[in-house]
Amino acid sequence: MANGRGCQAGDEDMNEVMGLKAKLGLDVFKPDKEPHIMIKPGMEKDPRLKKAMLVCPAGLYSENEKGEVELTIDGCLECGTCRMVCGAEVLDWEYPSGGAGVQFRFG
Ligand code: SF4
Repeated sequence: MANGRGCQAGDEDMNEVMGLKAKLGLDVFKPDKEPHIMIKPGMEKDPRLKKAMLVCPAGLYSENEKGEVELTIDGCLECGTCRMVCGAEVLDWEYPSGGAGVQFRFG
């Protein structure tokens, strides 16, 4: 693109070579004072959280040995997918405060 000729074959090659994880690795995450998404107390075993484990594009939901789902907020893309599948009964979901959260560096 820098040569002013629009999208070139080389650009397409770059997109094919650089996978999703590599692209996400370019993003910068600035932590907020408090996590902007929290699993509500007592909801850690709710089946809707298992769906969040499957759909979170950053893979931030995991299940511990007690069968409870945990969330690691660093790396959140603020896409809202977990909010859609879990709903307000399960998650407290807010955008990070100004200046915190994800800064996209690619695409
Ligand atoms: S907002 Fe998106 S990236 Fe962040 S935890 Fe939810 S599903 Fe994952």
